[in-house]
Amino acid sequence: MGGTGQAMNTDDLASRLIAGERRALARAITLVESERADHRQQAGDLLKAVAGTGHQALRIGLSGTPGVGKSTFIESFGTMLTGQGVRVAVLAVDPSSTRSGGSILGDKTRMERLSREPNAFIRPSPSRTQLGGVARRTREAITLCEAAQYDVVLIETVGVGQSETMVSEMSDLFALLMAPAGGDELQGVKRGIMEMADMILVNKADGDLVAAATRTCADYSGAVRLLRKRAQDPEGFPKVMMVSALLQDGLGAVWDDMLNLLAWRKANGHWEKQRARQARHWFEQEVRHGLLGVLKTPEVQARMAELGAKVAGGTLLASDGARQLLDGLKKP
Ligand code: GDP
Repeated sequence: MGGTGQAMNTDDLASRLIAGERRALARAITLVESERADHRQQAGDLLKAVAGTGHQALRIGLSGTPGVGKSTFIESFGTMLTGQGVRVAVLAVDPSSTRSGGSILGDKTRMERLSREPNAFIRPSPSRTQLGGVARRTREAITLCEAAQYDVVLIETVGVGQSETMVSEMSDLFALLMAPAGGDELQGVKRGIMEMADMILVNKADGDLVAAATRTCADYSGAVRLLRKRAQDPEGFPKVMMVSALLQDGLGAVWDDMLNLLAWRKANGHWEKQRARQARHWFEQEVRHGLLGVLKTPEVQARMAELGAKVAGGTLLASDGARQLLDGLKKP
């Protein structure tokens, strides 16, 4: 990742961002991704400067295993939306990526058509970042996309575990892309992910795969009905439907259902409650991270080593040692 280029005044960057300039948004995200103390400070100032814009996007989390068709779906779905004048931002979350040369989600050949759309913004995942860092970076990037007047923010994650929970905690709705399967299709599916999904999209429902997709769809429909009934789900949700990202089939219906779900949740107070709950969750996460950061400072590390030696030597109880350390933290 390069630097932020030549230094720019935060106010300038904020006003260009609010004007919806893509380059300003790219630069602002680079700033929030940076670990440098001066960049963190600037990022904080920028986030405060744009906080009052009030523009809110529909935040859609999208997950699925590699090869299920996420990039094809985002390309087709995103292009359909930009065609309707909807401004679409795509953020990739790939905390597992430690490959050299960045992540697969950063592959330049992905979403070529969408990336040429003036109403689209695509940001690949930064490589070599810890999940905690990815969470903060993604949340801040979402805020920046909203300030830059994007109407939809698609947050894409690979179906590898923890990252789905994280993405669902920052999304208004969560869609899971699945492949048609034969036989014991439900066996490999993690129950937690099914419980999280507001929409399960069985992709590749085309050609020879239509029959398998239809069966899979019926199986998932049965399963989600058993797994989940929540107050924030209107009749018919979680929804299971078939799509073909490749042939752009069923995508209009997906969008209509997303808008219906959003409208229903807004009308019934669930959307507001969910955003409030998420804000509180991330606040608490930040506090936890901050505390862990305090534990890593040299003074605290030295104190920890000192007390640890006593505990190891049998002259101090572990619980007493911990208490002494924590009491020390409370002093100014
Ligand atoms: P990702 O790893 O989840 O991003 O998956 P990709 O979008 O790269 O797709 C993986 C493969 O599945 C590619 O060869 C796509 O052309 C293919 N694919 C994606 N969507 C569809 C679809 O709707 N129908 C069919 N038949 N193939 C698809």
